[in-house]
Amino acid sequence: MTALVCACARAPDPAAAAPGAGPNAVASGVAPLWHRPGRAPAPIIDIHGHLSLFGVDRIEAVLDAVGIEAIINLSGGSGRGGGRGRIASRVLAERLGGRVINFALPDWEGCCDAAWAAREVQELRLAREQDGFGGLKISKALGLAVTDAAGALVAVDDPRLDPLWRAAGELKMPVAIHIADPKAFWQPATPDNERYEELAVHPSWSWYQRGVPDWAAMLDAGERMFARHPGTTFIAVHFGNAAEDLARVRAMLSRLPHVCIDISARVGEFGRHPAAEVRQLFIDFQDRILFGTDIGIGDDHLMLGSNGAVEPTMADVLPFYEAHFRYLEGEERQIDHPSPIQGRWKVDAIALPDDVLDKVYRSNARRVLGLGAGPIAPRLTRRPSPFAAAAEANPTVGAPGAAAGAGQGGLPRPTAPAGSGSTPEEDH
Ligand SMILES: [Zn+2]
Repeated sequence: MTALVCACARAPDPAAAAPGAGPNAVASGVAPLWHRPGRAPAPIIDIHGHLSLFGVDRIEAVLDAVGIEAIINLSGGSGRGGGRGRIASRVLAERLGGRVINFALPDWEGCCDAAWAAREVQELRLAREQDGFGGLKISKALGLAVTDAAGALVAVDDPRLDPLWRAAGELKMPVAIHIADPKAFWQPATPDNERYEELAVHPSWSWYQRGVPDWAAMLDAGERMFARHPGTTFIAVHFGNAAEDLARVRAMLSRLPHVCIDISARVGEFGRHPAAEVRQLFIDFQDRILFGTDIGIGDDHLMLGSNGAVEPTMADVLPFYEAHFRYLEGEERQIDHPSPIQGRWKVDAIALPDDVLDKVYRSNARRVLGLGAGPIAPRLTRRPSPFAAAAEANPTVGAPGAAAGAGQGGLPRPTAPAGSGSTPEEDH
């Protein structure tokens, strides 16, 4: 198995951003990221991250280096254990001046009687009002693993969960929901499976003969549930959970105006469709598609969409984002997609118009999250950047203080052993 390394070359466009100014300015000697020549630099919002408080310095470095105005932490924690996961996430958001927006998780323990629902509605309210959370995240466990008191799988459209969806709408908290998984995970995990490389590293991701509903049935259940809750905004992650089937995604978006989708960890999948078809979908639903990556950042782990046997390093982060930008903005044919572990094929870039890019990168997220038009406040104090390796080698390059203080931020970080499965990727 090979390391997850994006092969795309960095070719910063000097016209796109002047180093040291604007949202593409980066500390510590990192060059401005590639954007389409002539495109004015603008901040972006990553709607799909998995973040840990202990990775705060690395998170801040990524935000600064990529030009990310805000990132959504879909691993914000639940009410379990006195809500300590939520407290840690709140501290993370506070440390980064609100540039991290947390989404709460339900605690499925005890699901799904009326007392459970009341408890989880109350926890969601606390997450909003006490901890400043921005939304609710539902992992793929719903429908695939969550069981009720009788031991039966809980379906995505189980009416016992309706109070939660209703409360999210009342609290103006969008619900980011992951339903099912790539279609190939329902096929035998053999070498001729198109996602074999990924399944070989993560055998538990295979749903073949695991007694779960089939792929289409799960997505149908999701759409029935969405239809019952028009007052709640849903973000169907991973390109509506159906990147393999553009017609399905198009039909869902047409029928359900309160549903948005994100592009996280599926550029390689929807990028396999003809570029003109994908481009048209983005244009037709330009108000409902959100930029996201499925990046996971902690102090001792890193995930870029999906990991292979060898964990990526901080050096892989910028090429990972650039692969997204090249696909969305560029015109190149047969380029690498951001997460090659998900399939060693190439994609054709879709050259979205500037106004559509602005919506996908930022303004759709601001609307969905209720952020208004104002700036997100910068934090008060800064720490040495984990991107400071270059500055450490060459103290004339980099942010003030970076060279002297780079100690704990030194890169690259050690890679995790294969199969060390405790990262948030389990919680997509
Ligand atoms: Zn995720």
